[in-house]
Amino acid sequence: MSNSVLTFTQISPHVWILPRHPDKNRVQATIGVIIAGDQTILIDAGNSLHLARQIQATLAAMDAPPISHVVYTHHHWDHTFGACVYRVPAIAHHLSFQFLSDMRQLNVGEAHLRTKVERNPKLILEWTAEDWAEFEIVLPEITYEDQVQFQFGDVTLELLHVGGIHAADSTVIKVVQDGVMFLGDCYYPAPRYIDTDDQMLDMTMLANLLDENYEHYIDGHNAPMQTRHVRRILRSQALLDRLNKTLS
Ligand SMILES: [Zn+2]
Repeated sequence: MSNSVLTFTQISPHVWILPRHPDKNRVQATIGVIIAGDQTILIDAGNSLHLARQIQATLAAMDAPPISHVVYTHHHWDHTFGACVYRVPAIAHHLSFQFLSDMRQLNVGEAHLRTKVERNPKLILEWTAEDWAEFEIVLPEITYEDQVQFQFGDVTLELLHVGGIHAADSTVIKVVQDGVMFLGDCYYPAPRYIDTDDQMLDMTMLANLLDENYEHYIDGHNAPMQTRHVRRILRSQALLDRLNKTLS
């Protein structure tokens, strides 16, 4: 195969991931690949058509079954802009539908990303003129309200709306049989373009999501975590809170 083949990491019997790019300037979020019988389901679509095509090529090289659905963790461009390559239905919270419809109405696309590069010239965005000609925002065809379950072959996916400060439409996706939870960016601070004093991780949300039936926690822009890593983060936060109280 060509050099466009990526390296996926296997997390559990049905779940692989393309880990987030270590270079933050690429704004390339983690992508989940769930192989369930005769179909492949993606968690998030990738930040570009270029990346989406590389994902397709990698799946083909693995002899993976065809992609049947893409599930969005939330509407942000780095999680959704690759979707038009796959030509399959997207699944998301109904607020994601609303936000993406608004973005489509406002023609959020090339100019939007160009402005980001003007603000931060270190950004690396792999978009060509041809890509932009083919680009469209893919609205979710299947939406849900609070919680929903899908059966794909022998894999149950449970979607839970958690919302939060990063994005009101944040969805957590649980791969039930495998004990894997995709968190998207749900417990992160608000995106930088929103003016807010609150730039902390939402530890309460993270603590509430911790579930003894789930060993793997995969978020958008960090390395995958296991239960013990999440517990360590929560313990250090609790310690900081106690210190702050003592000092104040
Ligand atoms: Zn985000």
